[in-house]
Amino acid sequence: MITKHLINSIYRATEGEGVFLGRPQIFVRYQGCAVGCLNCDSKDTWDFTEDMGQSLEMVMEAVYREGFNGAIKNVSITGGDPLHPGHVPHVLALVKMLKEKKYYVNIEAAGTRVVDEIFDLVDYVSFDFKTPSTGVKTPLKNISKMIAQYPGKFQVKAVISDLVDFNTTLEAFKMISSEEKGMPFPWVLTPCFNTKEEFPLERFTQTLSWNEKNGGLFRVIGQQHKWIFGPDQKQV
Ligand code: SF4
Repeated sequence: MITKHLINSIYRATEGEGVFLGRPQIFVRYQGCAVGCLNCDSKDTWDFTEDMGQSLEMVMEAVYREGFNGAIKNVSITGGDPLHPGHVPHVLALVKMLKEKKYYVNIEAAGTRVVDEIFDLVDYVSFDFKTPSTGVKTPLKNISKMIAQYPGKFQVKAVISDLVDFNTTLEAFKMISSEEKGMPFPWVLTPCFNTKEEFPLERFTQTLSWNEKNGGLFRVIGQQHKWIFGPDQKQV
C-alpha cells in the first residue's frame, strides 16, 4: 500500500499535451507506473520508490512556490501513471485541495482506466489512445465512456511512430465517430520524438501528410519542449 504522494518532480514549464501546448503550468509528476509503454520517454518514473513520498502539504507548497507564489493557477497532474490504484487516493486528495484553492486542474491519463472519482472533479482530462508502437492497448470502450460521461472536458492523444500507428488511430477514429456520430472532442496526433534522437523531421512531415490525405480529421501537435531543450532534458 502506498501511504504518501510518491513524487518524481514538481516544476513549472510552458508546455503541455496537445491543446495545452504553450500554456505555462505547474506539473506534478507522480512516481510509479505499471503500464509499460515501449517508447516511454519517462522510464525514470516507473519504479514505485517509497522514499520519494511527500505529504499533501509539501506538494501544495511546491505547487505554490513553482507557480510564482500562486500567480500561475494551472496544474497538470502527470506521471508515471497518476491513475494507478496505489496513487488514486492521494491524487484525489490533491485534486480536492487544488480545486479548493481555485486551480485549473488537468490530468494526463494513460487511457487504460476511466477513474470517475477523479475525472468528476478535474477541469480537463488528456486521455491517451495507445498506438501499436507503444505495445499497450486502449480499449475503445474507454473512449466511448469518456464521450458519454465527460463531454467537452477531454482530448484524446495518440503518439505516432509510423504508418501502422496512424492507420490504427484512423480506424479507431472511424469506429468511434460512426458509433457516436461525429467527433465531439479534439483528437491529437503527436509524432514520436524519442530520447537520444535528432529532431525526426521525416516522421513529422509524414504524419502531417497522412492526416491531410485522410481528410484532416486530427490535430497534429508536437512536443515543443523537445525542439527547444532537446529530447533528453527533464522538467522543461
Ligand atoms: S503510461 Fe506514461 S509513464 Fe507509463 S509507460 Fe506509458 S508513457 Fe511511460
